[in-house]
Amino acid sequence: MSLWTCGIAGCEERFEAVESAIIHQTVEHERHQCTVCGSVVPDGYFAIRHAFEEHSRAEYVRAYDADSSAVRTREDVKRAVEEEADLRAVVTELEERGAL
Ligand SMILES: [Zn+2]
Ligand SMILES: [Zn+2]
Repeated sequence: MSLWTCGIAGCEERFEAVESAIIHQTVEHERHQCTVCGSVVPDGYFAIRHAFEEHSRAEYVRAYDADSSAVRTREDVKRAVEEEADLRAVVTELEERGAL
């Protein structure tokens, strides 16, 4: 079974369940302020989702001075998480903890 690595700012915590990784990212790490619009969102998966669902790729590249491989890496992470995660359960758990 492959493990999910947190990956925020070099964090190497690993999780068997992707849901646990997202909860860790949301609860244990500082929130991320979006460079494009200034919204404050949980770092990790939710920050990636925000960037690519709320903004265009071009806006992302400009705001973060990113190249296309950085964009692709994040799009791959987003896709992999969404294929595997029960995001409804994640959101419910985070709401119960008062973290969202
Ligand atoms: Zn972490
Ligand atoms: Zn934004």
